[in-house]
Amino acid sequence: MATMTALNSKVAEFTATPKQMFIDGKFVDALSGKRFTTYNPATGEAITSVPEAGKEDVDLAVQAARKAFDGGPWPKTKPAERSRLLHKLADLIEENIEELTQMETLDNGIPLEGAKNFVMASVGHLRYYAGWPSIIKGDTVPNNIPGELFNYTRREPIGVCGQIIPWNSPIVNAVMKIAAPVACGNTVVLKTAEQTPLSGVRLAELIQEAGFPDGVINIISGFGTIAGAALTEHLGVDKIAFTGSTEVGKQVMRSSAVNVKKVSLELGGKSANIIFADADYDQAIANAANAIFWNSGQVCCAGSRLFVEKKIYDRFVSDLVEYSKNYRVGNGFNPESVLGPLVSKDQLERVNRYRDLAKQEGSEVLEGGSGDEKELSAGYFVKPTVLANVNNDMCVAQEEIFGPVVGALPFETVDEVVDLANQTQYGLGGGVCTTDVRKAHRVAHAMRTGNVWVNTYNVIDATSPFGGYKQSGIGRENGSAAIDMYTEIKNVWVNLD
Ligand code: NAD
Repeated sequence: MATMTALNSKVAEFTATPKQMFIDGKFVDALSGKRFTTYNPATGEAITSVPEAGKEDVDLAVQAARKAFDGGPWPKTKPAERSRLLHKLADLIEENIEELTQMETLDNGIPLEGAKNFVMASVGHLRYYAGWPSIIKGDTVPNNIPGELFNYTRREPIGVCGQIIPWNSPIVNAVMKIAAPVACGNTVVLKTAEQTPLSGVRLAELIQEAGFPDGVINIISGFGTIAGAALTEHLGVDKIAFTGSTEVGKQVMRSSAVNVKKVSLELGGKSANIIFADADYDQAIANAANAIFWNSGQVCCAGSRLFVEKKIYDRFVSDLVEYSKNYRVGNGFNPESVLGPLVSKDQLERVNRYRDLAKQEGSEVLEGGSGDEKELSAGYFVKPTVLANVNNDMCVAQEEIFGPVVGALPFETVDEVVDLANQTQYGLGGGVCTTDVRKAHRVAHAMRTGNVWVNTYNVIDATSPFGGYKQSGIGRENGSAAIDMYTEIKNVWVNLD
């Protein structure tokens, strides 16, 4: 077994003390004094503790964000200054990349290389939105009203944004909920996921160091049913952006109705990855594996339903299992690990329940992966798993498992597979592997999903809209779509007569 990468001294120092949350530019405890522990999923060991925000702490954070917005500094801050601060935060993340990478691995489990990708994606995201403040603009609008009327639009910030994130890529999720709204002149209260609060605390320190005015960005730690619910119900919040499960997303919509908050939702998925017999075979195997096994399948758009054309189905499934044996599963600090643990014991139990259900439903459970059994028994590990002989009506083909488990389904025609792919309540991602360009575009257009990848998978970038059709969500993050989502359009008529 390879030697584990040593814990960075800054991370050791950071985790040696209980952490606080960030409200109105200061680090504070919960008013109740309550705290909770965050654990390393590779070992089950406690890392440190963070404050458990209650309703009253959410209220303080919202008040701080309101103060920074209503007549406060942020909406009036010049675009160049907003850009400078976003770039400054990106610089500070870059300067602390090794430390942040290790924190993500420690708290979430993802191996160091993947964690570093998360941190770098956060930097890219901040730099992309740092380019926006100076180019957010309205239009002059021709009109048909008699007389001389000047008609124009303005794009204005919405106000206080309540942001709620899951645990599957903590620092990227956090930055995605900060960069675009703040670039537009909004202020933010972000609640991190209870399983992975660590990088959010360090991010708050860097936000303070960057010099954002007090109250513009507040980061709190706490549980969904308490702090999350308080944020969605709060009358001082103008917009909610939620990333998480579809079930909780529906609750968020209901609570947000109290003052008709603008709501955007990035929810679950059960995405279809379609492999045609004419695909580049080796590329398609690698693509199918990456689509579901990256980050141990804890990816909202993971290619969890694998449709394979019947004439290559048996060979493809058996080669995919062989290929997946290359995935070494283990502690993220072990440089040989490709896949880390699942984030928590709850998540491990959920995935194992689905593997048992797959057998009961009559599918064949084929396990790949490799790893040191002693290392694996210490934490919440699941090896890459392929379910053969799945049909699209089974629970394992319809419900989101959120683990490294893919159901393989055979098909014969283009129309049949498009129909099957669309038979799900979700509509987040989809993949097509083929060398026939006409077929690729036909299928891409017919899929009822917000994102489609052709001969690749899981490519996400700050520049490009990301989000779901159907019960996978409302709205789009990333790209100019997020600017639309975080601004109100005002129409102004001026009588020049
Ligand atoms: P979850 O819905 O249980 O929790 C997500 C967040 O919501 C957490 O911060 C949690 O504390 C909070 N929350 C829980 N109950 C709440 C309530 N009643 N009111 C307000 N907030 C509440 O989801 P999870 O298990 O943490 O994450 C996995 C889910 O997230 C999967 O379904 C996955 O597909 C989805 N996800 C979607 C995207 C996307 O962009 N579409 C990205 C990542 C994850």
